[in-house]
Amino acid sequence: MEPLSPGLYIVATPIGNLGDLSPRAADILSRASVIAAEDTRVTAGLLRHIGTKRPMTPYHDHNADHVRPHLIARMATEAVALVSDAGTPLISDPGYKLVRDARAAGHTVVTIPGPCAAVAALTLAGLPTDRFLFAGFLPSKAKARTEAIAELGAIRATLIFYESGPRLGATLAALAEQLGDREAAVTREITKRFEEAVTGTLSTLAAHYAEAPPKGEIVIVVGPPGEAPPASIEDADAALADALTRLPVAKAAGEVAKKFGLDRKELYARALTLKDE
Ligand code: SAM
Repeated sequence: MEPLSPGLYIVATPIGNLGDLSPRAADILSRASVIAAEDTRVTAGLLRHIGTKRPMTPYHDHNADHVRPHLIARMATEAVALVSDAGTPLISDPGYKLVRDARAAGHTVVTIPGPCAAVAALTLAGLPTDRFLFAGFLPSKAKARTEAIAELGAIRATLIFYESGPRLGATLAALAEQLGDREAAVTREITKRFEEAVTGTLSTLAAHYAEAPPKGEIVIVVGPPGEAPPASIEDADAALADALTRLPVAKAAGEVAKKFGLDRKELYARALTLKDE
């Protein structure tokens, strides 16, 4: 087998169905000098599936800073492949700093694209795909989560979140409360035996999953906001009062101005009055 040219090879792997490993990915993995893997036991299973054995080295959040310089040095003369446990490396997985440092060192970087749960979920959801924003995992602490959702509220794009079963109900409820009752989809176990996509509004989905958290891996897809209705002063005041419980005056005014397409300065003055009342 001809050796690969030295450099870094980013290799996407299946998110459940081994049949999704591309022939090119299998070829690169079989010929790499070393495979940097998030969990070498998981990757050993994939290598068994394609009937090959290659040297592996763990590369994960806990050892990356220590291991990275050694991998960068090896790329000068060897082909280093990077894989994560499932899907595309760097997407809610380690790898971006490895690519950054490989580039800085002048090494060749090659990508072998393939499965990614975020994009797969988007293809299942039946929601607009012309503009989308991948938001990864929301923070688990309530305050940080509220702030993260508030930041996304005004973005006119479909939103994609990774989530786990036990947190799904609470996350959907928080999204419904802060984003309004948008169309959404909960996609689960994509490419696996029990793949499903449940669609509805955020509040119906929150109610559906409140009692029984589902098993397996989950992606939430949320449609973009509708055209903002002309807000009444009461609506704006209510939104301001809510925002003021979480944010300082200027930020609260900014958030509500964006949400309703209103003048930020006027809302700032209004927020100061509300705060004094
Ligand atoms: N790098 C991966 C990718 O390209 O999708 C994502 C890794 S991230 C650590 C793992 C999360 O991706 C899971 O918690 C889940 O939200 C989502 N995920 C991965 N595989 C999935 C699947 N088969 N079905 C639904 N979601 C999946």
